[in-house]
Amino acid sequence: MAAAVTLAAANIPVTVFESARQLGGRARGVWHNNVQLDNGQHILLGCYHHTLQLIEQVGGNIEHDFLRLPLQLTLHNRFELKAPNLPAPLHLLVGLLSAKGLSFGERLRAARFMLALRRINFTLLHDISVFELLRTHSQSDGLIRLLWEPLCISALNTPMHIASAQVLLNVLRDSLNGARNDSDMLLPRIDFTALFPERAAEYVKQHRGTVLTACSIETIIPNGDEIRLTTRQTILSTAHTELFSHVICATSPISAARLFHTVPQLALIAGQIAAIPYQPIYTVYLQYPEHVCLPHPMLGLDRCFAQWLFDKGQIAGQRGLIAAVISAQGKHQNLKHELLAQKVAQELCEQLGIMEAPVWQKVIAEKRATFSCETNLLRPAHTTQMPNVLLAGDYTAGKYPATLEGAVMSGMLCARTILAPIK
Ligand SMILES: Cc1cc2nc3c(=O)[nH]c(=O)nc-3n(C[C@H](O)[C@H](O)[C@H](O)COP(=O)(O)OP(=O)(O)OC[C@H]3O[C@@H](n4cnc5c(N)ncnc54)[C@H](O)[C@@H]3O)c2cc1C
Repeated sequence: MAAAVTLAAANIPVTVFESARQLGGRARGVWHNNVQLDNGQHILLGCYHHTLQLIEQVGGNIEHDFLRLPLQLTLHNRFELKAPNLPAPLHLLVGLLSAKGLSFGERLRAARFMLALRRINFTLLHDISVFELLRTHSQSDGLIRLLWEPLCISALNTPMHIASAQVLLNVLRDSLNGARNDSDMLLPRIDFTALFPERAAEYVKQHRGTVLTACSIETIIPNGDEIRLTTRQTILSTAHTELFSHVICATSPISAARLFHTVPQLALIAGQIAAIPYQPIYTVYLQYPEHVCLPHPMLGLDRCFAQWLFDKGQIAGQRGLIAAVISAQGKHQNLKHELLAQKVAQELCEQLGIMEAPVWQKVIAEKRATFSCETNLLRPAHTTQMPNVLLAGDYTAGKYPATLEGAVMSGMLCARTILAPIK
């Protein structure tokens, strides 16, 4: 949709094919028990400039659509980092030096680590794992457990022993070392389909474009200077072919590999995409009676199944609804959904004294939520062997892990590549 909006804004008529009945992909609204949920709680950072600007371009209002929280990381009863209202990077350094739950020596080591990263402009000569980087910079077990591991897991959705230190540094540089509000956390007040893709679809339609849902691309066939697409209406099961000057393949990596596999010129890149490893994200929604709430809109738990809790009452007015997020691989994947929800409810009872039983619960397991952001991972470029077939998505080559900002930037890059010779 980022690519489509950028092309539509340049007066190029675009057609968007979406195989699902609903827009949004891995960031979409989901209805359950007459309650609007997302397929997973999403957080945006203040440094996601492209995404935030795009949401406004299609009619959103950032301050209205999001709850903005200045940088604050709280692990219940264990750790608290609160950045004071000072210019960056002073806000972080003072925040680290005054963090609760760490010894004075640990706070000093964390601040020194950030200063060392600034000196090398957050750039490593060779990529190593996050854990190796932390050890090289004398970060203690306590610091790793309370600060860096939760940060690494939530930013990269990858365990720190295999996670790319360079990609984490890219996120730290842009979020913690930029302007003061680049480190803000933005929690959406409305569901993700309404927040961006529906508005983007309206925008595309108003600019000579077409957006088709429940319509999947089945094959990509080179046809002289053009590309022939075979599409299938998933509800009616009717097939159709159409010719286009350019194609941006913005599907999940699995679909992209499947589509490219049958085109000889794209077989190599298909193999590269098929080799990408994945990590899951589980979201456990627990609906409690309306009076139940958390001490903060977003709260971490130490050594629990639930890594981060979100109070949807404080964020979106959905009182009593708690979203518990479990990122990356782990032993939770071996549990039946009902048992996992019970265990998370038990953690809320033990950690926060929430004695009531949930009225209902819903576990959404995205087994291939993101690519596994490992050291030196080979990510495909946005261009392919065919000049008029481009590749967009969070997994394509870029500085970020699998994020909305990475996906948006890659879509915009594809659009600009098409627009360049026209301008
Ligand atoms: C549970 C969860 C939590 C997350 N949390 C965060 C977060 O807090 N912050 C953050 O920045 N990111 C987060 N992410 C990652 C973020 O959602 C993704 O990086 C982003 O949505 C990827 O967008 P995309 O356009 O690259 O791919 P997708 O969203 O996967 O979009 C691809 C689209 O292609 C469609 N498609 C597939 N095959 C075909 C076909 N043959 N024909 C037509 N259409 C097809 C799919 O239906 C889908 O709509 C999270 C992801 C998940 C799953």
